[in-house]
Amino acid sequence: PRDSGEAIDEAELALEGALRPTSLDEFVGQQKVRGQMKLLLDAARIQDRAADHILLSGPPGLGKTTLAMIVAHESGHPLRLSSGPAIQHAGDLAALLSSLTPGEVLFIDEIHRMARSAEEMLYLAMEDFRIDIMVGKGAGATSIPLELAPFTLVGATTRSGLLPNPLRDRFGFTAHLEYYDAEELEQVVGRSATVLGVDLPAAARAEIGRRSRGTPRIANRLLRRVRDYALVHGGGSGASIEDVRAALELYDVDPIGLDRLDRAVLDALVRRFRGGPVGLSTLAVSVGEEPETVESVVEPYLVRIGFMGRTPRGRIAMPEAYAHLGVAHPAGSAL
Ligand code: ADP
Repeated sequence: PRDSGEAIDEAELALEGALRPTSLDEFVGQQKVRGQMKLLLDAARIQDRAADHILLSGPPGLGKTTLAMIVAHESGHPLRLSSGPAIQHAGDLAALLSSLTPGEVLFIDEIHRMARSAEEMLYLAMEDFRIDIMVGKGAGATSIPLELAPFTLVGATTRSGLLPNPLRDRFGFTAHLEYYDAEELEQVVGRSATVLGVDLPAAARAEIGRRSRGTPRIANRLLRRVRDYALVHGGGSGASIEDVRAALELYDVDPIGLDRLDRAVLDALVRRFRGGPVGLSTLAVSVGEEPETVESVVEPYLVRIGFMGRTPRGRIAMPEAYAHLGVAHPAGSAL
């Protein structure tokens, strides 16, 4: 899913991999979740069994994939990566599950987009490490049970509300990842700058952190753009606060970190729909985006910073949004 308006190419993906922390201790923020996961992994280690299944929810870029990798790394087992859209038939899942080795960690990203038929197979697999394979068709069809190696499922979703209850109930541990605060993002930037060999004064780290929309992936991406900018305009391996401001302006990141799509949504809400309430699909169409992207990527942050409200009648703009856009707040609006 889009989360900063930029296309993600191979080189960017490789860099993203290089910046991933590999242990819970290196993972910045999410203190509560980290403590809970540590306990879960320690208990599994003491009993020499696969760790309980883990469900991670939250907007893109907050560290769900990274945590799955850490679970595998810390438990000393291999990691298998898959995703909901790649599992369109029960057979896809059967092939995946039956090839797992004991203790292997299976990561299913966007697990809410898995096929229904596969979902039911997953219930049994999670609970009993067993699946039933259907052989034949019609009246002659029979099911053959197949034992699986014990595994740990790590499911990730941007929309935990879309997950059927029976699936959600089968996870031993469920965590919701929250947006990171400015200080945590500054730490993420500092850590990544060290890995990339970029010399950044504290003020520059803080400025990137403040403009990262609460999201480590965006912090890392902005850092790379700042590094590029400093390389071209300064000619060294260091970047100043002026480089940060100039680079982020070039990439349309505003002073509070909103990108072009965030501002387009706000602008439509405030100007075209006069502050709302307006339905999600109408709002999405007016900015030329998928409703799912607007709902899972744009809105959570705008709601979080108090710019937008979600009501039963639709989306509304809050006074802070008018102030940010420099539009006078109409008296007697929907608020
Ligand atoms: P998600 O799976 O939730 O979309 P990822 O796990 O792919 O997010 O994280 C995106 C990027 O952000 C990765 O490069 C990762 O290194 C970085 N990142 C995410 N969370 C943290 C964190 N808590 N500390 C340091 N880096 C992080």
